[in-house]
Amino acid sequence: MEVKSLASWGMGDLPIIIAGPCSAESERQVMDIARALKATGRVNLFRSGIWKPRSRPGTFIGEGEKALAWLKRVKEETGLPVAVEVASPAHVEAALNYDIDVLWLGARTVSNPFSVDEIVRSLAGTDIPVMVKNPLSPDIELWLGAIERLYSAGLNRLAGILRGFTPYGKSRYRNIPKWELAIELRRRIPSLPVFCDPSHMTGKSSLVPLEAQRALDMNMSGLMIEVHCDPSSALSDKEQQLNPHEFSELLKSLVFRKSSSDDTGYLSHIEELRDQIDSIDYQIIDLISQRMKVSEKIGEYKWLSNVSVFQLERWIKILNTRLDRAEEEDLDRSFMESVLQTIHEESIRRQAEVMDELRTRGSLNGMDDSHDK
Ligand code: PEP
Ligand code: MN
Repeated sequence: MEVKSLASWGMGDLPIIIAGPCSAESERQVMDIARALKATGRVNLFRSGIWKPRSRPGTFIGEGEKALAWLKRVKEETGLPVAVEVASPAHVEAALNYDIDVLWLGARTVSNPFSVDEIVRSLAGTDIPVMVKNPLSPDIELWLGAIERLYSAGLNRLAGILRGFTPYGKSRYRNIPKWELAIELRRRIPSLPVFCDPSHMTGKSSLVPLEAQRALDMNMSGLMIEVHCDPSSALSDKEQQLNPHEFSELLKSLVFRKSSSDDTGYLSHIEELRDQIDSIDYQIIDLISQRMKVSEKIGEYKWLSNVSVFQLERWIKILNTRLDRAEEEDLDRSFMESVLQTIHEESIRRQAEVMDELRTRGSLNGMDDSHDK
């Protein structure tokens, strides 16, 4: 799968900056924000929701079709191209009638392949750029699936948007970033530009700059940021929208790094460091392999001694001693916990496999298998 480069969107330099209100609320509100964004000289695309997917009924659902005329005015007066979220074929039809430049599929829509299919059918035959937000749950296949469905219908100006994933319980983030999913998406479709939406990720305006910079540090292709002239009176997502002053301060503070450098000093030093990483990774693999072989021996020995695979006290002891040691080495406790858990799970699986094998062999040989009793 090879999508067209962002240059084909005709929106200027990378990284692409997409900004605008969460929702279009009135013609005046939309125009005021658009003028302020245009004045920064750095915004490539104006965003605004006009059909709003809300979790609870009775909240603001957007101004609908009449707001499309306001976006048309944004385009005519500021020259900024405009983007809206579509969630049904009727939305697509209306947006195309008003010459909207770019569409996006929201997290809730991407979570439902039936909806994506319907939208894709209504888009067939057009070549409008479409941005695909990550689904609500960290399911890379669902995210990829939406992009593949669009691509199969002939759309090849596509991009992903990482907006984070619904947390379980309380979290610092409105939606947990899980940068590794954006990296995996880029690995599966190397030509696909992937943007970041730090507004929906953080849910809080004061946290937006940090995540925006992180996205640039991860070499993402652009940012989508919610901006409102008076966030405290916004009809949706008031906590996370920046005012135009905060937004232009953010633009000034962002460090745009290069994805590589031709400098020979840089190239030889990075090469050296990467050699070290390669060597360490291979050592890790060898050590894990040795550890698994010992686990299998333990499995065999436990079977012979008629002892169960899993002993809770031993696991608690492994975890605590290793986590203490990891902390001495300045490693993050929860990171190490998940590494140890993964290794331990595999160890247990291997031990159980060895026991199954011995049991099967035993019963094939007609042995009286006292170990099952
Ligand atoms: C939005 O961009 O306003 C929006 C509703 O986003 P998401 O689909 O990421 O929740
Ligand atoms: Mn929003």
